[in-house]
Amino acid sequence: MAQEKFVLGYDIGGTKIGIGLGSDSGKLLGTARIENVNTYPEDILPQLVSEGKRLVAEAGLTMADIAAFGISAPFPADAKNGIMTAPANNPKWRNVPILAYLKENLGIDGCFENDANCGALAEWFFGAGRGYTDFIYLTMSTGIGGGIIAANHLVRGNAALSAGEMGHIPIELNGRQCNCGLKGCYEAYCGGRAIAQRVQEELKDKPDSMIMQLVGGDVSKIDMVPIEKAARANDPYAVALWDEMSLRNAQAFGMYVNIFNPQRLILGTLAWAVGDFYTDPIKKYLPQFCWKHILDECEIVPSELRRDIGFYAGVAAALNYLKEKAEK
Ligand SMILES: [Zn+2]
Repeated sequence: MAQEKFVLGYDIGGTKIGIGLGSDSGKLLGTARIENVNTYPEDILPQLVSEGKRLVAEAGLTMADIAAFGISAPFPADAKNGIMTAPANNPKWRNVPILAYLKENLGIDGCFENDANCGALAEWFFGAGRGYTDFIYLTMSTGIGGGIIAANHLVRGNAALSAGEMGHIPIELNGRQCNCGLKGCYEAYCGGRAIAQRVQEELKDKPDSMIMQLVGGDVSKIDMVPIEKAARANDPYAVALWDEMSLRNAQAFGMYVNIFNPQRLILGTLAWAVGDFYTDPIKKYLPQFCWKHILDECEIVPSELRRDIGFYAGVAAALNYLKEKAEK
């Protein structure tokens, strides 16, 4: 039997950095967190090294036992060279060569991946994607991102390595303005932030509406929570909005199903937080948007890793890096 392989993972979030020590047998041996609000990279980078080495030592291992590290980072980035160019939430991080820094200071090989793709990799190695060769992972929170596993490989695309922008396919001609600059994107209809902005705009002069009452009349407090509550309570405005969201979700899912013939669609955040009330109406509309025999082969399931995904993201990127290296 092959010897167990150990890897270090770094999930570079805009407010928190998750560090994990994991193995290819699916175990997480240690985790650490670093706050990352308003930081300078010259303060944080040495901590990534010292915390990583601490986890290795506490597990009774040495750096010689670590086969690789993985970095899960937000885009935009120079992914080929492992440089964080301009992460939206960290204004002091500009053109940070994080991959080269960690290679040199950890003394091991490593890789750099888009964080949405790392979500898919985390589900593949540790969650709802285990054992599958074809699935789509969708983060359904403030925005909609995702990753594609097809024919047993992560799909990255061309030089920009940006395949899997699942939220930014326009599904309506001249539709709602999206934050990305395009019009009519799927995210502009179903992303949590876009829906909240829309409802805030539509209800700001309607203090008697159920959603406004649920937030005590403070329009800025409207998010998916009161919208869901009002929809469950049969408020006509919220029911119509929920129905439109479900139809739009089905429209996008139908494209993924017909294009990729996936075994699973694995849904993050909103889907597992809300449950069947979220997914049942999507399933009702899906047959309008894809072929039945392909849809019949596809399960729609919630993410298994949920809030812990940050500790697995970088670890999974490293395990996938080793997998791809072994296949070369
Ligand atoms: Zn967009």
